Amino acid sequence: MDHAELNARHQAVMPSWLALYYDEPIELVGGRGCRVTDAEGRTYLDFFGGILTNMLGYGLPEVREAITAQLDTGVVHTSTLYLIRKQVELAEKIARLSGIPDARVFFTCSGTEANEAALMLATQYRRSNQVIALRNSYHGRSFAAVAVTGNRGWSASSLSPVQVTYAQNGDRYRSPLGHLDDASFTRVCADDLRALIHTTTAGDVACLIAEPIQGVGGFTLPPDGLFAAYKEVLDEYGILFISDEVQSGWGRTGEHFWGYQAHGVVPDALTFAKGLGNGVAVGGVVARAEVMDCLTANSISTFGGNPLSMAAANATLDYVVRHDLQAHAAKVGTRILEGLRGLTERHPVVGEVRGKGLMIGMELVEPGTKTPAPAAATRVLEETKRGGLLIGKGGLYGNCLRLAPPLTLTEADADEGVAIIGAAIAQAWVPR
Ligand code: PMP
Repeated sequence: MDHAELNARHQAVMPSWLALYYDEPIELVGGRGCRVTDAEGRTYLDFFGGILTNMLGYGLPEVREAITAQLDTGVVHTSTLYLIRKQVELAEKIARLSGIPDARVFFTCSGTEANEAALMLATQYRRSNQVIALRNSYHGRSFAAVAVTGNRGWSASSLSPVQVTYAQNGDRYRSPLGHLDDASFTRVCADDLRALIHTTTAGDVACLIAEPIQGVGGFTLPPDGLFAAYKEVLDEYGILFISDEVQSGWGRTGEHFWGYQAHGVVPDALTFAKGLGNGVAVGGVVARAEVMDCLTANSISTFGGNPLSMAAANATLDYVVRHDLQAHAAKVGTRILEGLRGLTERHPVVGEVRGKGLMIGMELVEPGTKTPAPAAATRVLEETKRGGLLIGKGGLYGNCLRLAPPLTLTEADADEGVAIIGAAIAQAWVPR
């Protein structure tokens, strides 16, 4: 069956809001290293890694063997009613890495569920259903997670009972305060957070939930230290800080293992998912024991922490740490950023190149303005595909290109990707 027929069947049986990339969507059927192959035999360099999920690329023997060994035991699932050795071991590792004192770990199967669990903990701990999120955020697709998602394109429902207000996200490029220097910008945003608490809440807010680098929002990042300034304000009111590390965790940002560490703060809870299983579904929340244990009723995720996902996740995390992929992400990411920054001068359609490590965004605009250019982003997506490269797209206006290759990307792969992007932008953007 060719991809056109499969696409037609997809459209006929899947929800209309489950969007596919590309005019002619592709079916990926194989992968090795940082390359994937589609059903028609075309190979692509993958700079999006299953939405930041295949963080060790494809077919890595260490992960495959861990999964196969677990399958060979005959046990894929037992449930959390029984001890699961690999779950305990992984929780110990993540608790240690989290930097959260007296940390407890609860495993889920997705980032949405992780955030849902964190919101449940914070609201229960504080006995308040008021939450502060950031503008332009994305935290998942569930009823509570869409409520704290500050992006019209992903807020599928406005009916959630969570009471949410939205603080400044720290994106200098789009902020009306963007002309201020870092210190002044940070101070004004923190003052605005205090004003927001005074004017839009009853004061006893449960938590602030934030992505250190906004993923779906187009890899926007605040100045380092913004969350420290926010935390000072939150501490005045006893409001918890939850760091959504679903995209920014596991060393992807290069300079730190977790995104929040760029700000010199320790959150009360962090949530994770995506890369940890290298493609196998796993997520979770880490919180101080006092917060985690505030629930007085039972709570369970039947599949959360199952032996198969734990086997994959332990092998993935061990590989990341053993090979210091955080340092590797810093090195290769800097190389990509430098390569792309040259494009800003040559192509005025590139409004901004930003990011850290292997989490790099490019915002496309109408030349000479900051007006978002989503059509240009769509064209570049098509051109990069034609050139043999998969990248992501996002941002509030759909005008941001997102590059988040596996953390195992080589420098040669990095250069190849940058060259394809350069050619795609030149091809897609015809000066008028
Ligand atoms: N938080 C962030 C920052 C995310 O990027 C995502 C997914 N894009 C989620 C939460 C939700 O994760 P999932 O799709 O696994 O439910």
